[in-house]
Amino acid sequence: MAQIHFLSDETARAAREDFGTPVYLYDQHSLEDAAAAALSFPNAYGLTARYAMKALPTAAILRILTTAGLHIDASSGFEAERALAAGIAPEKILITAQEMPANLEQLVKSGVEFNACSLHQLRTFGEIFPASEISVRVNPGLGSGENNRTNVGGPAASFGIWHELLDEVEIIRAEHGLKITAMHTHIGSGSDPEIWKRCARLSLGIAARLHDVRRLNLGGGFKTGRMPGEASADLHEIGNALLPDFQNFAKEHGRELHLEIEPGTFIAANAGAIVATVIDVVSTGRHGYDFIKLDTGLTEILRPSMYGAQQPMTLVPAEDGGEERAPHDYIVVGHCCESGDILTPAPGDPEALLPRTLVDAKIGDLLVIGGAGAYCAAMPAKNYNSFPEATEVLITNDGIQVLIRSRQTAQQMTQNELEC
Ligand SMILES: *Cc1c(COP(=O)(O)O)cnc(C)c1O
Repeated sequence: MAQIHFLSDETARAAREDFGTPVYLYDQHSLEDAAAAALSFPNAYGLTARYAMKALPTAAILRILTTAGLHIDASSGFEAERALAAGIAPEKILITAQEMPANLEQLVKSGVEFNACSLHQLRTFGEIFPASEISVRVNPGLGSGENNRTNVGGPAASFGIWHELLDEVEIIRAEHGLKITAMHTHIGSGSDPEIWKRCARLSLGIAARLHDVRRLNLGGGFKTGRMPGEASADLHEIGNALLPDFQNFAKEHGRELHLEIEPGTFIAANAGAIVATVIDVVSTGRHGYDFIKLDTGLTEILRPSMYGAQQPMTLVPAEDGGEERAPHDYIVVGHCCESGDILTPAPGDPEALLPRTLVDAKIGDLLVIGGAGAYCAAMPAKNYNSFPEATEVLITNDGIQVLIRSRQTAQQMTQNELEC
């Protein structure tokens, strides 16, 4: 099972035996290896690597990654509270949010850091906390996401303060006596060191005009290949490409900028898999398709139906030692009564079907979906068709499978509903 490196057929079968399906399996080794890679990102004057927890926010995962040395990027006030509840120190948490947290004052007083992502956010922060230090997120005018759903920079993205509005930033800063000590850009730069370099140069150019900035956060978006042969960002190469620009900045402006990065996908994507059961196999005839239906789908993994994302898949026979299975092309679909619940769309086109070569499938077999650590359990079509949230299991460094989130019960699904 080369595509899902931490998971043997036996491990997948054991997980079903112990926890049922669908079940997410996460590999502690892979998480720690990725954290170590992020923490060794080349830097000129110091580094903080934050885990973008929206990728996979389960408490056990947050604790493993912060123990490994990562800090936290939280995408909402609620996410910050979730990290605090998991026992993460407030000083390690930076909030970068589209929606201003309702309890910002309480969070900041507890030690959580805030990154103002719009003029309104900066003004509001200034009103609550005049004469204090603040970080600002800037949209440097460059985007690079693979499509408009993952693009987080440039004129088509609403994230951050548009780079031409620095004069207004200065007016608000002065009005509230703020000190802008950190600057943030997250444009989803992918794997190309040249794009990272361009983004860093634009960001440094902006930081040059914000005289109190001592930390520059370049965000996450390090491309992570999930499919065999799909390239991943080389953090070492990217970091080294940026070094001279930070050194030149220091020479020119007398400021040695501390670097921050915020990988989410890079940390979690290939540390997770979904183990599902084949619940049906149907055909639409000679001019149609053969379909595998799973007991999972957009209730556990939305990426294929949302982005046309490609995930590695392996069919695991229910029992070991049967006859050799012949290759067979299938469309793999989920369990929702929803024609869009497709796990094998064409790349980048959730509207189109692309048969996947697996092997002959029988009802009761297992299907393992790899690359399912990031933005899967975190981003489900939760409770659609009233399917309860799936179980999450950690494979520890000792190879033991430990339950880290139980399956939701039917009672939990409806517990906030009221009689009327
Ligand atoms: C989502 C997000 C990240 C992480 O993005 P990945 O593509 O998962 O690495 C980092 N920083 C911010 C501000 C984000 O919103």
